[in-house]
Amino acid sequence: MRVVRYARDGGVRAGLIEGDRLTEAGTDLLHPVPDGRSSLDLTEVSLLAPVVPGKIVAVGLNYADHARESDQEPPGAPVLFAKFPTSVVGPGEPATIPGITTQLDYEAELGVVIGRGARGIPAVEALGHVFGYTCVNDLSARDLQAADGQWVRGKSLDGSCPVGPWVITSEEIPDPQALRIRCVVNGEVVQDSSTAEMIFGVAELVSFISQGITLEPGDLILTGTPAGVGFVRRPPRYLQDGDVVSVEIEGIGTLTNPIGFRPPP
Ligand code: MG
Repeated sequence: MRVVRYARDGGVRAGLIEGDRLTEAGTDLLHPVPDGRSSLDLTEVSLLAPVVPGKIVAVGLNYADHARESDQEPPGAPVLFAKFPTSVVGPGEPATIPGITTQLDYEAELGVVIGRGARGIPAVEALGHVFGYTCVNDLSARDLQAADGQWVRGKSLDGSCPVGPWVITSEEIPDPQALRIRCVVNGEVVQDSSTAEMIFGVAELVSFISQGITLEPGDLILTGTPAGVGFVRRPPRYLQDGDVVSVEIEGIGTLTNPIGFRPPP
C-alpha cells in the first residue's frame, strides 16, 4: 500500500493511492481503513508529511561509500542523533530554513516508520516492527554542526526534515537493503548509491536503537546517507535559496522540495 496524509475540509485525513487516484482511508495513517466509496484525483489534494513522528532517530556515517569519501573509519556501532518533529516538512512544501546557516547540505535517506512499538527488539524480529518506508532529506547545517561541537542545531533547524511523499508499507519492500537511492539538485544527480552500502542495515538499527530507547508507533528512523554530499566536494557545494532537491528511492518514490531561507536575524 501507498499511504498518505492530506488536508481536506480543514482536517487531516489518511488515504491510499493507486495510480493517480486517492481513496479516503480514515484519519490514522498506521491503520488506514479505505471507505470504498469516494476516490479523488491526486491533483485535487495537497499531500502532507506522511508521518508526524513522536521522535526522529537518525544515524550518522552509516554508508560505507560515505565513510570512504569523508575519510572516516566506519563506526563499530551505530552513531545515533535526533531531529525534532518541528523540523518536518511535507512533499513539495518549501523547506524554509532559518537564515543562521550558510552551509546547508542535502542528505538523501531511507526513512523507516515504526508500526509496532517495543523496546529490546531482537534483530531477527525487527523488520516485523516496521510499518513502512519513505524518503527523507536530512538537511544539515554543516557550519552549525562544527561550531556547536554537537549536532542539535545543525540537524534540527526548522524545515530541515522533508519527508514523503508517502509511506510504502513494508510487505512491498521485502529487502530494504537492495534499493537504489539518489539525490538530485536542480536536475543534477549528486548522490547515486544503494541501500546495500549501509554499514548497519534496517533490522540492526531498529534492534540497536530499541535496546536503549523505546520505539513507538509512528516513530521515524533515518538510516544515513550515501556518498556525494556537498561538504566533501571540492569546492564544497551548499544549497542556495531557490534550489530544488529531490530524494528518489527505488520502489518508494520521489520527494521534492524547494529550498528557501528566512532572512538572517
Ligand atoms: Mg543523515
